[in-house]
Amino acid sequence: MFTVDNSKKALQLFKEKIDQNKDYLSELDTPIGDGDHGNNMARGMEAVSESLQNKETASVQDVFKLTAMALISKVGGASGPLYGTAMMEMAKAAATTSDVLPILEAGLAGIEKRGNSQPGEKTMLDEWAPALAAIKENKLTEATLESAVEATKDIVATKGRASYVGERSIGHIDPGAMSSMYFFQSLMEAGVI
Ligand code: ADP
Ligand code: MG
Ligand code: MG
Repeated sequence: MFTVDNSKKALQLFKEKIDQNKDYLSELDTPIGDGDHGNNMARGMEAVSESLQNKETASVQDVFKLTAMALISKVGGASGPLYGTAMMEMAKAAATTSDVLPILEAGLAGIEKRGNSQPGEKTMLDEWAPALAAIKENKLTEATLESAVEATKDIVATKGRASYVGERSIGHIDPGAMSSMYFFQSLMEAGVI
């Protein structure tokens, strides 16, 4: 179940993981993108953290809405509107339920809609979809998250900047899948799932 406290805690942990791995995320984005994913996410999560500390959050809906607005307004890259839309759809879902699965499913659907994308295209969805499938069966583990990220190496990118390098994207981890792993790890560490 999402609560105001555990959702804020998860987002704080996510910010910390992004900060710790900022250079690594940008390195992953170098061979198949423009080398800015770590910087984009760090800038965005800094704004999220500031907003959550300074503004009133009476509900889980408020938490995700503030998160979405900070990401959308502060991140220029593709990941800003994509994570931002995920969080905005999660906020909407949180208006009617506090159950984790339907809220995260709304987030995934938001990414698919905003990105015009599906799992299997070497994007963050290749982390979100296996993570949600495991949560559905109550068996999400660290290993599930790690093997899903690793599996993005074998996929040819067909969406986003990585699609420009086509076949040459093979052998490289998708940076957005890696940052999404940190998101799901944060949910686990905050006791949400
Ligand atoms: P940009 O590509 O604009 O520099 P980032 O580097 O911050 O933005 O984010 C790149 C990540 O965004 C990719 O690794 C991928 O996971 C994700 N991404 C890009 N396009 C899409 C899309 N259409 N659908 C889902 N995720 C996408
Ligand atoms: Mg980039
Ligand atoms: Mg960029």
